[in-house]
Amino acid sequence: MNNNQVKKVVIAGGGTAGWLAAAALSKQLGSLLEIELVESDAIGTVGVGESTIPTICSFHALLGIDEAEFMRATQATFKLGIEFANWGRDGDRYVHGFGHLGKANWMGEFHQFWLHARSLGFGGELGDYCLETQALNSRKFATSEKPMLNYAYHLDATRYAQYLRGHCEARGVVRSEGKIREVRTNAADGFIESLVLECGKQVRGDLFIDCTGFRALLMEEILQCGFEDWNQWLPTDRAYAVQSELAGPARPNTRAIARSAGWRWQIPLQSRMGNGMVFCGDYQSDDEALAQFLAEIDGEPLFDPRLIRYRAGRRKKAWEKNCIALGLSSGFVEPLESTSIHLIMIGITRLMQLFPFDGIVPSLQQRFNQQSRDELEKVRDFVVLHYKLTEREDSEFWRYCKHMSVPDSLAERIALFRESAQVHRNADELFRTDSWVQVMLGQHLYPQTYHPMGRLMSEPQLRQALAGLQGNIRNAVARLPEHQVFIDRYCKAAPAN
Ligand code: FAD
Repeated sequence: MNNNQVKKVVIAGGGTAGWLAAAALSKQLGSLLEIELVESDAIGTVGVGESTIPTICSFHALLGIDEAEFMRATQATFKLGIEFANWGRDGDRYVHGFGHLGKANWMGEFHQFWLHARSLGFGGELGDYCLETQALNSRKFATSEKPMLNYAYHLDATRYAQYLRGHCEARGVVRSEGKIREVRTNAADGFIESLVLECGKQVRGDLFIDCTGFRALLMEEILQCGFEDWNQWLPTDRAYAVQSELAGPARPNTRAIARSAGWRWQIPLQSRMGNGMVFCGDYQSDDEALAQFLAEIDGEPLFDPRLIRYRAGRRKKAWEKNCIALGLSSGFVEPLESTSIHLIMIGITRLMQLFPFDGIVPSLQQRFNQQSRDELEKVRDFVVLHYKLTEREDSEFWRYCKHMSVPDSLAERIALFRESAQVHRNADELFRTDSWVQVMLGQHLYPQTYHPMGRLMSEPQLRQALAGLQGNIRNAVARLPEHQVFIDRYCKAAPAN
């Protein structure tokens, strides 16, 4: 065990993970630490990762980021949720909106009342009761209206890393450009001592953060932490990505459209559309997938699509010796629910909470590793849910997904909802009850029964209450400006001092 104080942090890699870590550590702990980041222009970044979830707003607040400035710099648009097409059945559409169903702090779980209303033959669609879903459907948006919308962003990943770099360098983070040629470790305890760049420069540190992407240069190639493969539950293993000209106003949502061996995404930026197609190489060749992808892109692609290969799963340890993995080096769950940037942010927050100023001790490492594992497994289960609940049998890929076995933790959640309309959820989970309910009902998992609280109101009372909620949401949406009009106005406003 190394009991030396940690005074210098070295971050290997300058993608979203590396620069976010540098930004947060320099802002929060900068007076206590020296921070150096090493990145290679020749290797570059993965260049995708453009859709986010609402937790990004509080992380940006922690970094002191001005929203309008960030939006201008990264070509960002606002995101109110994800529209899923063809997932349960071909031709289906449902929305996972970011807000509450019904109203925050209603008398109980809203879906229990809605299920009762549906059993009586009224109640409309579940999405009628989510402000964000209704604003998304009408392509409306504002940050200032009451009630406030829950939102996230779509952003240009390359510009985001550059923007964060500017923040970091202004706060004293040192950037060293060059390919890491060698990693030197201490012969006695195996701790990393320094990174040696191709130019010969040696970068020494007390704590190293591995943000080198899928390669996991420090965690895997040097420390050999091992990888737990989740391919049997998340069978997609590659993606094409390309930007195209944006045709028409930007929608305030990501689209995830199921295809024969995976799905494709549309992520609107201010002047471009981010397009991608995630697929499984066992069921579709790269050439077939490319042809299908190109045929479906709206607008001219701005360059040749890039093929990115990946493995779903997690690094067995997120913290080993004096090295911590953040971002793709720590594991990957495919981007269906846009969770990776969130996982980077929560990992950084955890690191700051457990920071080993007085030396690295096993209890801190264990806590970090356990929490990282729990979080990633819960995100995995939520993403696997979308595949498992398909009713599609029209391709080998979807037949596999429908009939595959799932992790016990997920099987229990599905059974609980099917048999009782209850959602198993722990207090510290990322996805709230309403998120699970929107996906489960959106993909036709109708419970056999529901909680008696759904019957607490008489039928006329329930009709009136639901109509009132719908009316309030309609009125609130009617007051909102068009999303595109709002962005144009917001991003043109003078930057705040
Ligand atoms: P990278 O961007 O790969 O950065 C690695 C860095 O390490 C680079 O700077 C590189 O130069 C450096 N490096 C590597 N080796 C060396 C070396 N030997 N010497 C020096 N430097 C080195 N996330 C979301 O939240 N939302 C999404 O919508 C989303 N979509 C995705 C779609 C796909 C297809 C994929 C694959 C991922 C997606 N992600 C998404 C995940 C997201 O892209 C990543 O979480 C995010 O970009 C962070 O990547 P990173 O910084 O870990 O790695």
